[in-house]
Amino acid sequence: MAAFDLARLITTAADTIAAHSEELTALDQAIGDGDHGLNMKRGFEAVRADAGAFAAKPLPEALKAIGTKLVMTVGGASGPLFGTLFLALGKEISGEPDRANLAAAFGKAIEAVAARGKSQVGQKTMLDVLQPVQDALVEGKTAMEIADIADLAAEATVPMKATRGRASFLGDRSIGHMDAGGRSVALLVRTVAEIVEGQA
Ligand code: ADP
Ligand code: MG
Repeated sequence: MAAFDLARLITTAADTIAAHSEELTALDQAIGDGDHGLNMKRGFEAVRADAGAFAAKPLPEALKAIGTKLVMTVGGASGPLFGTLFLALGKEISGEPDRANLAAAFGKAIEAVAARGKSQVGQKTMLDVLQPVQDALVEGKTAMEIADIADLAAEATVPMKATRGRASFLGDRSIGHMDAGGRSVALLVRTVAEIVEGQA
């Protein structure tokens, strides 16, 4: 994987989340409590504030520190889950990951999220976007293909019925809306893909 500028990645990710904060809130209003956009924006602005310090660390340490920051600042159910994703990724990734290491580390990170959330694929959560991304990483798809797969996976949560998280309280009424956390994952995946491919 090409070297990339972590400070720039953090700034771009925070920009993306800020630009889509209202959309994420609207998604969470439909089948949750309407705080997801604000939760994510608060967390990523906190990460942005320390971007220089994170970028000065080796990649594994940076990801672990970002995970800790997200746990402390995002809140809601998604804060500990996104935090766990980055923490676990940091534990497994190497300083200069190749595709095989990235795929293995991402797989472990998803397992950690599922354990933390007591959740699994098919329940209309962020896992329904994370897992197809993982599959695409293993299959050797390009970064932009993976970004498209993440968007399609977020779209594919629309007809699903939620059986985990706040949206599960609505039962069948959760059908017909995109999962907010899944949308956040797709936004972040595209941000990373564009930076890695030098398109942003
Ligand atoms: P809250 O649900 O506490 O209001 P957020 O609105 O910030 O928290 O985040 C909601 C998102 O978190 C959901 O859209 C879903 O993707 C994800 N989520 C919630 N609970 C779980 C879980 N147990 N496992 C995986 N993801 C979950
Ligand atoms: Mg919410």
